[in-house]
Amino acid sequence: MSDPAPATPASLDFIREMIAADVAAGRNGGQVITRFPPEPNGYLHIGHAKSICLNFGLSLEHAPNSRCHLRFDDTNPTKEEVEYVESIMEDVKWLGFDWGDHLFYASDYFEKLYGFAVQLIEKGLAYVDDQTPEQIRETRGTLTTPGTASPFRERSPEENKALFARMRAGEFQNGEKVLRAKIDMASPNMNLRDPVIYRILHAHHHRTGDAWCIYPMYDYAHPLSDALEGITHSLCTLEFEHHRPLYEWLINNVDGLPGAPYQREFARLNLTYTVMSKRKLLRLVKDGLVNGWDDPRMPTLSGIRRRGYTPAAIRSFCKAIGLTKYPSLTELNLLEHHVREDLNKHALRVYAVLKPIKVVLTNYPEGQVEHVEVPNNPENEADGKRQVPLSRELYIDADDFMETPVQGFHRLVPGGEVRLKYAFCIICQEVIKDAAGNITELRCTYDDATRHGAKPIGRPKVKGTIHWVSAAHAADVEVRLYDKLFTVEQPDEQAGEDGDFTQFLNPASLEVVTAKIEPSILSAKPGSHYQFERVGYFFADPKDSQPGKPIFNRTVQLKDGFVVKK
Ligand code: ATP
Ligand code: MG
Repeated sequence: MSDPAPATPASLDFIREMIAADVAAGRNGGQVITRFPPEPNGYLHIGHAKSICLNFGLSLEHAPNSRCHLRFDDTNPTKEEVEYVESIMEDVKWLGFDWGDHLFYASDYFEKLYGFAVQLIEKGLAYVDDQTPEQIRETRGTLTTPGTASPFRERSPEENKALFARMRAGEFQNGEKVLRAKIDMASPNMNLRDPVIYRILHAHHHRTGDAWCIYPMYDYAHPLSDALEGITHSLCTLEFEHHRPLYEWLINNVDGLPGAPYQREFARLNLTYTVMSKRKLLRLVKDGLVNGWDDPRMPTLSGIRRRGYTPAAIRSFCKAIGLTKYPSLTELNLLEHHVREDLNKHALRVYAVLKPIKVVLTNYPEGQVEHVEVPNNPENEADGKRQVPLSRELYIDADDFMETPVQGFHRLVPGGEVRLKYAFCIICQEVIKDAAGNITELRCTYDDATRHGAKPIGRPKVKGTIHWVSAAHAADVEVRLYDKLFTVEQPDEQAGEDGDFTQFLNPASLEVVTAKIEPSILSAKPGSHYQFERVGYFFADPKDSQPGKPIFNRTVQLKDGFVVKK
């Protein structure tokens, strides 16, 4: 399933410029060692793809003096699960990247991280604080006032060491004590006001089991894990910018580290019409507002994979958005553009009618069947041609007919003429309705002289070309028409701090129809891409399709979608 990422250098953004300068100066012996450090507390989303493409992309660009590690930042046992670890590995591979032998877990370093904390205690740079979490929060001060020192701040290294050992031994309850770095309670940077670096948590860890009841904080474990692995460039998103001084403080104050990484930040990807925080995505899954993490409406990599997005499209999207130092919002349209560009090259074409309306060609002989030869992919001759059956009764899409046409509507109208793609022109002679006034059938005549693109003689030029499916041959196929998950561009922002983003869920984000599709579709392999001509790109659902009974997910509509508002 994976499609390896090519090592094409991206244009030089500020991160790449900085790294190129390091390499030119021979820093770290010219090596570029990066890491992608997910916390296994949810499925990866399209935002993570930006970070994956950056970190793994850099290692490809700087090969062979380079590598990228996959490291699970599994320091929070209560929210982490093996299911997430496995899905993350699958998603990174699917995007086309390979960590080789460099798979790591922060939990592998628990013993070393503990030793570094003891070292800080011995140097007088860390202390055990007995204050409650509330007291610690209250005494941190504000942006304009300094914090107040804890009454336990001046404990001796010996006392601290003994208490920290007892914390590890499980002698205290959750929250009873913490270990804090002793930095500066008056620092203008709140992250330096004696941050908590260890907490007590009597919880089972998915890898270390019950070996530990104290766990390092992310801000402590992250830089030290980077250093232990010899990471040279630790690239993260902007919200960590104010954590950088703490990162540097730890790297500078812990002795015996094998590496000296540095951290730089770039703006995270924000995308319109979706939410990207794992916490919010988890809520959608847990509350049953979507059908699981891989629901094709989700911005998760497993969701968009199931929708039919391709790794190449995501990589080219990530390359196009580039890296900046300022927060921004990217249009979902841009991502869809890259998906179309890629699928246009390799998706096979078929004729599918999503909203069928029957057409009877009254002058076409009953019982006759002919086969029209059509290209499987006009973008790639090597994909060959196929024979599409054509007969007296056809289906066309209801959107391709208007009884009372609006201005600019160039498809079928009563008395009007339209071309059936790759076949001939037809004229609508009569509109048949049921008792309720619904159109049940269009009776048309065809003009045999208009085959192979020949123009009608003695009648006006035909402006529209539509697709069709032979009624007797059509397969009935379930098609899931996915649309945007939310109705507003920024559900988070628009809901505000206290609001609920789920109020903006799009009630029409999934419509299921039974489409009439040319019979060749029945042999579609699960996980294959098609363009339903004039309609959009569709993907044979890899989970729910059965042999001979594919189910299709709409990946994306064609940009020049043929739907006209009525
Ligand atoms: P979330 O906010 O979705 O829970 P996170 O930052 O907590 O994400 P992590 O598992 O810690 O998730 O992320 C792993 C890496 O992916 C981090 O280096 C993080 O900076 C990066 N990352 C997360 N979200 C984005 C995003 N939207 N754009 C770019 N990089 C991201
Ligand atoms: Mg995180």
